[in-house]
Amino acid sequence: MNAHPAGCAREVQLQKEFVEQIDFSAEPGPDTAPPRPTGSGAAGENGPKTVLIIGGSTGYGLASRLVGAFGYGAETVSVSFEREATDKRPATPGWYNTRAFDTLATKAGLKSFSFNADAFAHETRDTIGALLQARGRKVDLLVYSLASGVRPDPDTGHMYRSSLKPISETYTTRAVDFMKETISEVSLEPAEQDEIDATVKVMGGEDWQLWVNYLQENGLVSDGFQTVAFSYIGPEVTHPIYRSGTIGKAKEHLEATARSMNSRLQQNGGAAYVSINKAVVTRASAVIPAVPLYISLLFSVMKEKQLHEGCIEQIVRMYRNRLYTGGEVPTDSEDRIRLDDFEMQPEIQAEVARRWETVSEANLNELADMQGFRSDFLRIHGFDVPGIDYEQDVALGDIPEL
Ligand code: NAD
Repeated sequence: MNAHPAGCAREVQLQKEFVEQIDFSAEPGPDTAPPRPTGSGAAGENGPKTVLIIGGSTGYGLASRLVGAFGYGAETVSVSFEREATDKRPATPGWYNTRAFDTLATKAGLKSFSFNADAFAHETRDTIGALLQARGRKVDLLVYSLASGVRPDPDTGHMYRSSLKPISETYTTRAVDFMKETISEVSLEPAEQDEIDATVKVMGGEDWQLWVNYLQENGLVSDGFQTVAFSYIGPEVTHPIYRSGTIGKAKEHLEATARSMNSRLQQNGGAAYVSINKAVVTRASAVIPAVPLYISLLFSVMKEKQLHEGCIEQIVRMYRNRLYTGGEVPTDSEDRIRLDDFEMQPEIQAEVARRWETVSEANLNELADMQGFRSDFLRIHGFDVPGIDYEQDVALGDIPEL
């Protein structure tokens, strides 16, 4: 419910420092391990010059902004929807993150433009379009990283609400309370058709398509323009609530949108992709039943195998080993970028499945990385961040100097 201004700002700074220690100039080399900081790094030369991120304040979107700016020197424009602080209540983490990003970008001599606005509204597209026109910039990369529960139809104003539900059958699973370390059984009733349709409206590809159409129609895409939206597949235990559930229907729509956009964009040397990313702790993923328990087991196994990644490592690979290798973009048979390659390795999945069967409150800390999940969850809200003195009072309306 809370966010810590200094902690959020420091977390963004740590991610920026991570990106600065990655070498983006060299040949990417074999993609067999997560990127690790080397102590020195170099900016990539053949990357995007202008990156627009829809949902660039937290999670995968923020990471996409950081890598574009500090890995490739790009000018970044971001839209996110965050709540400002009041006298008594802190702002949302993304509000502080965005402040921190802009401060760090300015210090590094990079241009950045941040809008706190509803990305679903036509006026927001107009605002961004006007900015790009005024600056004479065309977008090289559009990253679409929205996670939202609601979407007002931009023409009628009708409010659509997404649901996180299974389809056809009741789904009973185990859920972990990662703060109390208790496991309980939860049952979710199947969605009605109108709930499925509304979820597709909110989290499907319609709004992404509107953004790309807008940029194209207004001459705001460069030759070779690329766009990416994010999706998830994951293991069978989460399929009823994720891949085969309401959200999965929305992701199918997103993937179909990518395919149809791609064939149009290809005519001008451009491309559209869905990238299937790894499960990580974000404000969006922490609320999906079964997912926190799966993620805690997964983290434990991936850390043991030295294959663990967070958003920033994933997005380093998206730019360096997928989109900007200088060659063809590696994709699967359905033209999707796969950043869940380590997560989905058969031996990792087999071990997680084995632990899923045997996990209980008694062996939770042995089999699952509860501490890692909790720490990640706290950190995305600015708590548990190294180097922050939480005894100090902080002003809620701004971030401390970086
Ligand atoms: P997140 O909650 O960290 O970020 C969501 C972003 O959307 C924030 O910047 C927020 O401000 C913005 N946003 C929400 N509503 C908005 C609106 N109306 N207007 C403007 N901005 C708005 O979520 P995330 O986990 O980084 O998710 C991003 C994408 O990645 C989603 O498509 C998600 O399905 C996908 N993904 C997530 C995971 C995971 O494990 N978290 C895995 C694979 C794919």
